Amino acid sequence: MIERRGKKRHRSILLAGFGQDKIHPLKNALEASGYKISGAVNSRDALKAVSETNFDLVIVDEETPEMPGISFAAMLKATQATRNTPIAIVSYSYSEKIREDGFKIGIIGFLHSPFTEGEAVDFVDSLFFSGKINQSPEIPRILAVEDSLLICKMYKVILAKHGYDIRVEQDPLKAEEVIKEYNPHLILMDANMPGMDGFELTRRIKADKKTENIRVIMVTGDTKKQSAVKALDYGAVDFLTKPFDEDGLLARMRAHLNNKRLFDDLTRAYHELRSLNDRLELLSITDGLTGLFNHRYFHEELNLEMERALSAKKPLSLTLFDIDHFKKFNDTHGHKAGDAVLQAVGDAIKKSVGDDETAARYGGEEFAIIMPGVQVGKAMESAERLRRAIEVTELPYGDMILKVTVSIGVAMWDGKLSDHRLIELADKALYESKKGGRNRVTAAA
Ligand code: GH3
Ligand code: MG
Ligand code: MG
Ligand code: MG
Repeated sequence: MIERRGKKRHRSILLAGFGQDKIHPLKNALEASGYKISGAVNSRDALKAVSETNFDLVIVDEETPEMPGISFAAMLKATQATRNTPIAIVSYSYSEKIREDGFKIGIIGFLHSPFTEGEAVDFVDSLFFSGKINQSPEIPRILAVEDSLLICKMYKVILAKHGYDIRVEQDPLKAEEVIKEYNPHLILMDANMPGMDGFELTRRIKADKKTENIRVIMVTGDTKKQSAVKALDYGAVDFLTKPFDEDGLLARMRAHLNNKRLFDDLTRAYHELRSLNDRLELLSITDGLTGLFNHRYFHEELNLEMERALSAKKPLSLTLFDIDHFKKFNDTHGHKAGDAVLQAVGDAIKKSVGDDETAARYGGEEFAIIMPGVQVGKAMESAERLRRAIEVTELPYGDMILKVTVSIGVAMWDGKLSDHRLIELADKALYESKKGGRNRVTAAA
């Protein structure tokens, strides 16, 4: 323990986005245990802090003021300066989804709130002392494909001395297999070898998506200009002639390895940003509570499907649902129970819709399904099935069993009405269901 305390003094941690009230207990506990703690109450201050200091760990609050902590963490991971900074998250929900997303973007751990000060310290200790943090950076893997045993030995001595991981392969016909297994960052490629020359081997490496980013330096015995041009044409990044000078070889390797690392970083950042963008886009059309599409997307999709129906000369039906006496339900069982029911109804709807149908949460306790290619009769049948499924669903909640019913209105488009008029028609039918005693399906007149 004493030894650890000593080690901790050199570990700097940023607490990001916690707000004044939450930051103090965590800061005090970690400081008392020996860590060096900085705080940033919002993500703007946090960004400023990470741009000025290299922290050993950033702990992000899941409920950062301006944006979800997970988005802020993704932002840090997509930023060159903080890409390698370990990030942990203090989480207030046990959402598997958030954990999964977190681990995908490289979050190294979740601390679940509420926690005691001791638990917080244990959590951070375990990150530092389990090897999750401070794994040394990757040692560059170098492969030499070289038929001369003497030169192979030289490579081994020189490169091992300078801290590289070096492998040699004397048989060019075995090289491709070794490359796939060893996944080198850089290859020192002999140009002249029996069986297959270095040019052809380079061409093959560059033609394969899995190996195309490996840097190849061609090494030849001849100094002819054509060989250099040929090597570059075949995809090598550089060209060396034997006998090569050790410093020259090392300098070129450093340059190309650096270049590759930057390239890989950029590629990774690009993919992270893209997947983050995809997620944001999905979020912007999704209802947070039910996971169904939201109102905005419903309208976009309805207009799109109307155009499609028109050009394909196919029918289109619209179904609207409204939970019965839901105000009273909330008053009786509480808003949280109401939310659970909304989710359950959302799930039932998700299960019932076909691939080309669009289900949305239209309003508070109102849902909609767009049914392309469906006549009103068929739409009535599926609406009735869904009504029945919801009616018999019993949702265990605490020590209660929750049940609701829905009233439904169905309308088929005539190919002329505006989207608003179509919705109005379905809504009128829904109103008829309410008037007729609820828990029923009505088709528009
Ligand atoms: P009706 O059978 O005529 O539809 O009666 P109702 O009580 O369902 O209709 P009303 O439109 O008067 O009330 C709708 C209620 O739905 C009011 C509101 O509290 C509740 N509600 C809307 N959105 C949510 C939500 O996100 N969560 C919860 N728990 N309740 C919601
Ligand atoms: Mg040779
Ligand atoms: Mg309503
Ligand atoms: Mg209602």
